[in-house]
Amino acid sequence: MAKPQQKRKPAKKGNNRNHNRSYNNTPRKQQEHVKEITYSTPLSVGQLAELMKRNSSEIIKFLFMMGNMSTINTVLSDEEIELICMEFNVTVHKEIVIEEDDIEEQIGNLEFDEKDLKPRPPVVTIMGHVDHGKTTLLDTIRKTHVTSGEFGGITQHIGAYQVSVGGRKVTFLDTPGHEAFTAMRARGAQITDIVILIVAADDGVMPQTKESIDHARAAGVPIVVAVNKIDKPGANPDKVMAELSDLGVMPEEWGGDTIFTQISARSGEGVHDLLETLILVADMQELKANPDTNASGTVVEAKLDKGRGPVATLLVQQGTLHTGDSVVVGTSFGRVRKMTNDKGMEIKQALPSTPVEIIGLNEVPRAGDVFMTYESYKKASEIAGHRLEKQIEKERNQTSAMSLEDLARQINEGDVKDINILIKADVQGSAEALKASMEKLDVDTVRVNVIRSTVGTITESDIMLASASNAIIYGFNIRPTAAIRKKAEEEGVEIRLHNIIYKALEELESAMKGMLAPVYEEVVIGQAEVRQIYKVSKVGTIAGCMVTDGSVRRDCSVRLIRDGIVIYTGKLGSLRRFDNDVKEVTNGYECGMTIENFNDIKVDDIIEAFEDQEVVE
Ligand code: GDP
Ligand code: MG
Repeated sequence: MAKPQQKRKPAKKGNNRNHNRSYNNTPRKQQEHVKEITYSTPLSVGQLAELMKRNSSEIIKFLFMMGNMSTINTVLSDEEIELICMEFNVTVHKEIVIEEDDIEEQIGNLEFDEKDLKPRPPVVTIMGHVDHGKTTLLDTIRKTHVTSGEFGGITQHIGAYQVSVGGRKVTFLDTPGHEAFTAMRARGAQITDIVILIVAADDGVMPQTKESIDHARAAGVPIVVAVNKIDKPGANPDKVMAELSDLGVMPEEWGGDTIFTQISARSGEGVHDLLETLILVADMQELKANPDTNASGTVVEAKLDKGRGPVATLLVQQGTLHTGDSVVVGTSFGRVRKMTNDKGMEIKQALPSTPVEIIGLNEVPRAGDVFMTYESYKKASEIAGHRLEKQIEKERNQTSAMSLEDLARQINEGDVKDINILIKADVQGSAEALKASMEKLDVDTVRVNVIRSTVGTITESDIMLASASNAIIYGFNIRPTAAIRKKAEEEGVEIRLHNIIYKALEELESAMKGMLAPVYEEVVIGQAEVRQIYKVSKVGTIAGCMVTDGSVRRDCSVRLIRDGIVIYTGKLGSLRRFDNDVKEVTNGYECGMTIENFNDIKVDDIIEAFEDQEVVE
């Protein structure tokens, strides 16, 4: 089997050990067959034969028997190389060349011998609707499962903690909620092994319950359900089970594959069972890590402390972190001067799945950043320097994580097979119609994957999910607020807004065909808030407005927005200041407006002004 090999000190790009060999095909007199080969760049039949010390005609013959015509110059795929080597009893390794400062890629390609791997505690995140009991559960677990012996006095909040359950450890990330979870995932960090979905039995499935399910699923993390507040008189656990089953989270006892537990986070009833369930799920996942290698992992939290300087909570995921280690964290670096665990005790070393707070970094990293230790301080500083340069370069060239145009280009180049879409619509019917029609779009081998489809305007959680999943957001008859637009821009998430279903479908389909060429693009030029309403017979409703962003022009189109939902789209009827018709009113000024053929304007409505502008390529 071809296995990517972890390289501690990878060769520089392009430095490939095969370069200087010549690959002639003179048959060898005395064949001495090779038992093991390693390659890094694509191989032709001739090159593979040379490495295996066999005659290329043998390989050509084998491929022919498999139904493939080849010549000595045919370039082989990894699968073909694997097949050929299997046939000739040669063990094959593919060497992946990874840049030395690409810690993310190095961590992603870490591979260890089975014998070096030791079981590690699961890392758990609690998610659920607001007030369903996340904080209470985290507190109860901490209070009841920290043995007094290891208790250093005050438990510190460091962003994560570890408890013991019958001699086994479980690590909890104690910034609950899917925002934190997804914000980390958006940076590429996947640190949660299990999600506890908490649902209050007296309230049932609520919007954030559904969001949590979406987030856990998108990340491929197993869910354990905790039906909470069973001590309450109105508690109805069966209803919660039925509601979750409708969403595809089905209890084992009903034939599904999700474990449900019933708890009272407040009294502690059932909490121990829940913890034992976590151990069970962790055992099924066979979570392991190698403690005997240099440490790497992820930043859980970081801040600047007045007295101590940059302070970061790291979750060790591989290896063992020691005080004195030289470490690169994101783009910062330093020597671990002091390590403190979640019980406020100073420790000298931290094993996999252990959260520790460290000081000694030159700068504050970000939650979700990766870290890795190096053999010397000098090395760590060099690597951090390269990473900083790269990051600055990246920020300079920052474009969308995934825009429709990128998508069209990548599809053209054959790089994309799945398009992730998030749909937000004004009513359930439109959301469902869009989802169904989008999923039906069938263009060659490209597939649409709707990861969320809900009613309402675009929220921050939508942006973070889209960012983490490289998804494009389709808004139907809704308008995001200025703050959400800004957030989307920061995260590089593209939002496409439509009010006609077939137009949205047409646009997506042409992108899937790799040819997106919009001729006109709508440009929002300003926004105004309705402060007062005057009903005037013959004229209709006049909206007394304050322009709060950009400007409004007499000949522009407008959209009336109420609570984030588009109520009406049409032309501006009139634009006045102090009884005079004016051409334009800019940010910070009051004005009176009417909308052509539309009078249902209310105080607090938002009027968005836009124009269709030709797109200049
Ligand atoms: P969060 O918003 O999900 O973090 O929810 P909290 O943990 O803050 O809990 C919200 C409210 O529900 C608080 O008043 C808790 O005391 C209460 N609560 C949480 N768990 C239970 C429970 O098991 N039983 C009862 N009766 N109340 C609970
Ligand atoms: Mg809370």
